[in-house]
Amino acid sequence: MSSIDLWKEMIAESLEQHGVMATAEQINLIAEDAAGIAESISEHSFHPADPMVHELAESQKALKREREKVACVPCHGSGFIETSGPYHGSTSQCWKCRGEGRHTP
Ligand SMILES: [Zn+2]
Repeated sequence: MSSIDLWKEMIAESLEQHGVMATAEQINLIAEDAAGIAESISEHSFHPADPMVHELAESQKALKREREKVACVPCHGSGFIETSGPYHGSTSQCWKCRGEGRHTP
């Protein structure tokens, strides 16, 4: 259903509710006007950013970043690097992925 059809339906319903008799042709014309009015209202009115939409976009971005992460090579994805020296071995947090095991490329 096109939006103009939706307008026609709503206009016809509204006219009927208010006891206004209109021909199909008149309803068509009114619907076209109403659609035009609605369009110019939405063009001229301020649209505050919907916080939910913003939040969703943010979490999708975060998810995308997470998906783009690659397994860390220096620590083989473990997040820690074990170094064994002649005197002592130590385990330290991976410098590349900061212990996460994965990092953004
Ligand atoms: Zn690492």
